[in-house]
Amino acid sequence: MYTREGNERKGRVNVDHAIERIQTLARINRFDCEPFGYADGQPLFALHRKANTTAAPTVYLSAGIHGDEPAGPLAILHLLGKKKLPEAINWWIFPLLNPSGFARGQRENAHGQDLNRAYHFPPGHEATAEVGAHKAYLNKHCTQIDLALYLHEDWEAEGAYLYELNFADSPSLAQPILRSIQPQIAIEQAEEVDGHTVHRGIIKPETVPENPEGLPESIYIYQRFGLSRSYTIETPSSLPVATRMEALGAAVLAATRSMGTSPPA
Ligand SMILES: [Zn+2]
Repeated sequence: MYTREGNERKGRVNVDHAIERIQTLARINRFDCEPFGYADGQPLFALHRKANTTAAPTVYLSAGIHGDEPAGPLAILHLLGKKKLPEAINWWIFPLLNPSGFARGQRENAHGQDLNRAYHFPPGHEATAEVGAHKAYLNKHCTQIDLALYLHEDWEAEGAYLYELNFADSPSLAQPILRSIQPQIAIEQAEEVDGHTVHRGIIKPETVPENPEGLPESIYIYQRFGLSRSYTIETPSSLPVATRMEALGAAVLAATRSMGTSPPA
């Protein structure tokens, strides 16, 4: 078993370097890259690119809300670096939502707040600069989301798993996502994670879960934009960071491919 400290050394994100790379790679991939706020002196970036076709779906992709989970931001940088994000999609990408957490190698931001439990505050009364700026930017610029993907890691899990929000029973993307991960990472065998029932790596609640600790990003986005499907994808932090990064990148491509929008790999 890797220790938390040992594993951070294996996958620590250098925030200044990551921010520089996000800007460079966004330009190369013809994304608009706009700072939508600042948190503890570091910019928060949104990447947006319109599809090269009309009637294209809109995909929301987010990573780095937990500062001790480097694989998500690295997966986005990897996909941008390889120019792999399909052109036939309207993209909204938030590649590094918690820069001050990454600077410290901790889940919470510099003020000890878990951003992924802070989406319920009303406008004008936001508890965190990051989430306040994120919500304000989305509400100003984003009108529609068809699919949302959230890249995470789990320090306790031994395999990969995902949370699916899909209350209208739209065609599920859970299987294609998990299949794309499997060459790198085995699917979680546990039947319970954080109090949720897991079935072959899938947690699929039948109703919107209660969130007594505060509203997560995924449920805020799901409710705010009335989208049909969203997936929070979790990889085990005990594996090498390159493995987690590649698995999350493959999951993004599998999900978008399974929407029927990009050519077969
Ligand atoms: Zn997380």
